[in-house]
Parts: sequence; C-alpha cells; structure tokens
Amino acid sequence: MVDLSRFPRRRYTHGPTPIDFAPNFTKALDGPKIWIKRDDQLGLTPGGNKTRKLEFLVADALASNCDTLITCGAPQSNHCRITLSAAIKEGLKCRFVIEERIPGSYDERHSGNNFLFQLMGVESITVVPGGSDMAAEMQKIQNAVEAEGRKGYVIPGGGSNALGGLGYVACAQEMQQQLLEQNLKIDRVVLGSGSSGTHGGMVAGFLANSINIQLTGVGVSRDPEDQAPLVHREAQAVCDLLELGVTVPADKVQCVGGYWQPKYSVPNDTMVEAVQLLARTEGILLDPVYTGKIMAGMIGMIRNGTIGKDENVLFLHTGGAPSLFAYEDVLLNRDAK
Ligand SMILES: *Cc1c(COP(=O)(O)O)cnc(C)c1O
Repeated sequence: MVDLSRFPRRRYTHGPTPIDFAPNFTKALDGPKIWIKRDDQLGLTPGGNKTRKLEFLVADALASNCDTLITCGAPQSNHCRITLSAAIKEGLKCRFVIEERIPGSYDERHSGNNFLFQLMGVESITVVPGGSDMAAEMQKIQNAVEAEGRKGYVIPGGGSNALGGLGYVACAQEMQQQLLEQNLKIDRVVLGSGSSGTHGGMVAGFLANSINIQLTGVGVSRDPEDQAPLVHREAQAVCDLLELGVTVPADKVQCVGGYWQPKYSVPNDTMVEAVQLLARTEGILLDPVYTGKIMAGMIGMIRNGTIGKDENVLFLHTGGAPSLFAYEDVLLNRDAK
C-alpha cells in the first residue's frame, strides 16, 4: 500500500464507510449484484466525497497558518457546504464565490444547501455570472481577507487538485482492505465524474495499489471527449504528488456520457427514476444533481448490456442528499407549487 502518512491529514470520519449489498435494488433491476459504498456517510454536515478531499486540504491550510477557507461552487454546492462545515470544526472562517451557471438561480432563501450555508453561518457569499474566471474571483476574496490582516486559503472547485485527490487514494486503499475482509470480489466500480478529484484520485489509487477493478466514471457535466482529459490530468497530478514515477495509461480513464443532459444540475427523467427507485427499494437517498444522474448511468448500462448480469458492481455513493429539498416537485413528478 502506498504510504500517505507523509501528508498532513485531519480526520473527519470514524472508520471506513460501509460497503452494503443492495438486495431489493438488485432484484428490481434484474441485473448484476449491486453493492454500495456509503461515502454519503462520511463525516461533516452531512458528509460526502468532499469530506475525504478536505482532510488533506484543510490540514494544508492549517499548516500554512490560514484562518479563512475560500472556495467556489454552483448554487446548490455540496462542496461549499462541506468546506464550511470543516471550517467551523477547525475554528476557521469561510467565504464562497457562487457561480450562477443558470442566471438568477441563486437565492439565499432557497432550501437545500443554500439554507445550510445560512444556518451554519457562512461569512460571505459573492455571486458571479456563469463562465466567470473562478480562480480570479477567489483571488479577489483572498486579497480582501488579507487587507483585513487575515490569511486566506483558496480551495479550487470541488477540492479537485492533487492534494484533494489524495482523499480518493485513501478511499481506494480503504476499499481494497474491505473487499479482502468481506471476501468480496468486485468486477467494476461505478462513480461520478465532475470536477474529477474523485475519479482521478481513484484512478491514481488503483494504479498505486495494483487494484485491477474496472472503474467507470459517469459524467455529471461533460461527455467523455471533454471529461476524460480532465480526469487523466488529475490522476497524473496525484501520481506525481505521490512520486510514483508512472505515466497514467489513457485506457485507465473510462468515462460515460449521455446522462447529465440537458445541462449540469438540470433534472431529467432518468435521474428522477433512479432517485425514486433507490429510495423505494433500499431507503437510500441519492441527489438530483450528482448521484441521481450517476445512478441513472449505471441503470442505463445495466439495461443496455454494457454491465453484464454476471458482474458484481460497486456503486460509490458520493453523497449530496441535502439538495433533494430544492427539487421536491420534480422528484415527485408533480407540478411546481
Ligand atoms: C462533487 C460531487 C460529485 C463529483 O465529484 P468530483 O470529485 O467533483 O468529480 C459527485 N457526487 C456528489 C454528491 C458531489 O457533491
């Protein structure tokens, strides 16, 4: 196992997240056997995949004596919520830049994550139009914080840089250990692919630990021709940080598209079906922006035979449930109030 102990790390979760068999969901799909790794049960408020990345990123912020975390995201950003939660736990302040990819879509009175931003007392939110240079916008906040005699630490969108990706190297190692202990043979892991820290970190973690399981990333905002290069770059950056001396083979990055349309965060029917089906067969909550579409991708691949009936599949549940409460009408197929 590659040694991660030379990287400072905070701990936000007690022990490994469970790997559970989903018997009713498996039966409903009449397909392969499906297990779920419950990264929706990671620590922080409530946790998700960003928790793992922040263990390394926040440790770095603390090592650099920073007192304010600055990050960015979409209006219903899970990453912003979890960053704020980590800041609170560490006694730091937290500021966001919110990118309105859909004009007028941010309202501090909205439910879901927006409500939680306010409840947990975010220090400030700056809203900018879609397509803005987010790094430049965060730099402005960094300057403003410095002008107050404080020190900011900028975390990129989704926490997806090399350091953040280590969180998913750690996840790959945790999973490897669990499969051994549970005597479980998995043929394929299905996971989401967005800002790419999760997918890229897992690619690096599989390489670093000689894990030979197919890894299929379902895009939440891009089709494979745009997503795969992003994931490859992230995986390479993580391998370089680990000083593995390897070039990531292009075929280790497998991306699937077609399930995120019409647009990032905008609902579609396959997402609604996936969220309803898992809730009604296993009582497990997905979310409308990420895991609902990622699961829709897995269901689609089961139905079109890309994932064989004889496979054992592990779905990585990356969290996100709070944003369900900003999409209630859509998820119940009813007209908006
Ligand atoms: C951010 C997020 C993802 C995507 O992960 P990336 O590391 O950005 O690719 C998937 N699921 C949920 C719930 C998320 O919040």
